[in-house]
Amino acid sequence: MTTLGKTVSGHRGGSPVPGLTLRAPAKVNLCLHVLGRRPDGYHELASLAVFAGVSDEIELRPSDRWSIEVRGPFSRGVPATDANLVVRAARALATQLGVSDALAVVLTKNVPVAAGLGGGSSDAATTLRALPALWGRAVDSDRLRSLGAALGADIPFCLGDEVCVLGGAGDRLTPVLGWPALSTVLVNAGKPLETRAVFSAWQAPGSGPLSRPPTDSAGIWRFMGAVRNDLTAAAIGLDPTIAEVLAALDRTTGCRVARMSGSGGTCFALYGSEGEAADAANELKSVHSSWWVRATRLGARAQVVRCDA
Ligand code: ATP
Repeated sequence: MTTLGKTVSGHRGGSPVPGLTLRAPAKVNLCLHVLGRRPDGYHELASLAVFAGVSDEIELRPSDRWSIEVRGPFSRGVPATDANLVVRAARALATQLGVSDALAVVLTKNVPVAAGLGGGSSDAATTLRALPALWGRAVDSDRLRSLGAALGADIPFCLGDEVCVLGGAGDRLTPVLGWPALSTVLVNAGKPLETRAVFSAWQAPGSGPLSRPPTDSAGIWRFMGAVRNDLTAAAIGLDPTIAEVLAALDRTTGCRVARMSGSGGTCFALYGSEGEAADAANELKSVHSSWWVRATRLGARAQVVRCDA
């Protein structure tokens, strides 16, 4: 469970009860191949997904009634209602388990919203991972995964800990063990992009199936140079600034690869060291003061959450 090791107190019936503070890391798609449209309206995908060292924070406190407060630099546009994915996930699990307890939720949005970083999915998944312990219930991981998949295609990945190849609509997972943490700079220029609009604008053909990701250094850079994000042209059509972000990342010293994550508009570049990534982030911030720019790491959950800022 991704906790900050903090407990928070709530009040129920006048007496304090313990709660939890959790970190929900962003997700980055190192590549995203669209294999085609499916009859059910979803797209068949092949993607390599990792966690990033930037996280939302979620406080969950047992309470007499359900409530949610949303704060933080990216709270705008995030519902502070039952429509929030944290509340939807928690209430769905409570119903399945027959738990009548309610929760007071405080969600701090540090991850850009509608940005290809799976922020809402990670919030929901992190909540689902934590609640069984808070409620003193054991829940089978398959059960959590099918409950999560019904709420969002990225939730099954975000319920796990590992770097994964995603298949199907993003819900079929194959863990990639031994993939190293990579130094990165993430950039979002500020325009939210609706996933559905980007997929609707995508035009065939896509790049085809992914080869199995290697885990040795030379193989990784070869693999990363050969794969694509097939949604890039569609996203640039909706927000031309994404092309500017990719070009700016590409020009930074030491950039090995610059690419968009998910359905955009967040883009990332990969570097050979944390120092190069930090220098590149400073370079970008000095020229583009309105962009959200973060030097961080990408990898398995345990590799990135400790460097979270
Ligand atoms: P993906 O990469 O999975 O497509 P995304 O990063 O593009 O996701 P999110 O940040 O998850 O998109 O937000 C998508 C929409 O979901 C937002 O427009 C927002 O209204 C809604 N939403 C509901 N709950 C949340 C939440 N906890 N955090 C962010 N958005 C939420």
